[in-house]
Amino acid sequence: MKSLYEKFTWPEIKAADKDRVVILPVGAMEDHGPHLPLDTDNLIVSRLAEAVVASIPAESLLLPTIPFGFNEHHKDFPGVIFIQPETLMNFVVDVARSLAHHGFRRILILNGHGSNHPVLDLAARKTVIATGCLCVSASYWNLMSETLQAERHSRTGGMAHAGELETSMYLYLDPRHVQLDKAREAIVHDENNRYLCLDLAGGAKAMAMQWWSAQTDDGTMGDPTVADADRGKIFFDAAVRETVGLVKEIRQIQLKRRKDHH
Ligand SMILES: [Zn+2]
Repeated sequence: MKSLYEKFTWPEIKAADKDRVVILPVGAMEDHGPHLPLDTDNLIVSRLAEAVVASIPAESLLLPTIPFGFNEHHKDFPGVIFIQPETLMNFVVDVARSLAHHGFRRILILNGHGSNHPVLDLAARKTVIATGCLCVSASYWNLMSETLQAERHSRTGGMAHAGELETSMYLYLDPRHVQLDKAREAIVHDENNRYLCLDLAGGAKAMAMQWWSAQTDDGTMGDPTVADADRGKIFFDAAVRETVGLVKEIRQIQLKRRKDHH
């Protein structure tokens, strides 16, 4: 069964089940320390989305990944392609409006880059208002926080950016492009903090996002030195399992009509 959106013909899209959940992955092109490539977020979120639709093809459809995100605070590091948040939000909403125009009713914006999260959350909310579709935004690490806490070897702060999580998954997915000999520990989390935390396993009650270069010398924020491919597989499989669960929920949720009480 076909599940890659761009491989359909238009009569096939016309005939497609419009309750299949259309997944739109969004990543970023940015520094990931001296040991990981610029495409880290794109590789992980793309492979994740591919594995999800491969396991439930009748319930999902996959759009190509949007490879650029909101990350101007990273631009002191060469290579970063930074998109204004308004541009990213409007672009994503236009993609979703197109899907709605063709009759699709259920959309999942699947995020692979931290600072896209609030932008894509807004894009999903704007899509609901503009189209009446069910549009959900989710960052994959939030779906799998139990596994992250259970399987991690690093302490809090060890999986913020280019740390244990992303390095392990890249080692599992494409080890040829990981230069682990250049990885170093760079945990900047202050254990005395009660509210502020950048760790992807959760726990932050408030967010302080400063210039990236003010906080880390080489772009890493976390501990890539404890990463390995076996844990990368555990993390990746958990991300697939949890995202499949989310797609099934989106697929099953009852779509209710709005009621204007004026
Ligand atoms: Zn990343």
